[in-house]
Amino acid sequence: MNKSLPLITCLLLLLLPHLVLAKSAKSRYVILQYSNKELLHDFNDQIRLGRKLSHNLKRRNIITVEDEVLAKIDTIIEKAEVILDMFPNNMQITVVLLPGSRDVSRVFKQKYGKNVNHIAYYSLSEDTIYISVNDARLRVLAHEVGHAVVDHYFKVRPPYNIHELMAQFTEKHITD
Ligand SMILES: [Zn+2]
Repeated sequence: MNKSLPLITCLLLLLLPHLVLAKSAKSRYVILQYSNKELLHDFNDQIRLGRKLSHNLKRRNIITVEDEVLAKIDTIIEKAEVILDMFPNNMQITVVLLPGSRDVSRVFKQKYGKNVNHIAYYSLSEDTIYISVNDARLRVLAHEVGHAVVDHYFKVRPPYNIHELMAQFTEKHITD
């Protein structure tokens, strides 16, 4: 009998809940990752597009809550591109839904070793938005999407303050 079998079994048992729980869905611009349906529903409730942006949802094919969330994020990305007047042709990001700001800060700490108190952040190296569902709002998501669009548009990354300014600009004008 293979001696390493118990170890492999242990590893599988450790990994299994994550594999079972991890859900992923894809749209034109986004790979969405979340651990369970409840989190997805909560996120969908938190992100209210407002009258003008909601109009864009009507022409999309929405059947499930997952479809609706993806359509909302795609709509926000397209609006952010218009606001910034930047239309990168390789726009593809990952959005990871986490329950609360503690989870966002934990992920940040794991990756960068720094203690922060973030409700969301965009990882430049991973093309990924991590967002706390508890704190998720249209403006919060628009801000991070602004970072993502800017990051995909420029071949040479702008200075940090300019990056931040453009994300704030996106946030400010998302409902215009
Ligand atoms: Zn920012």
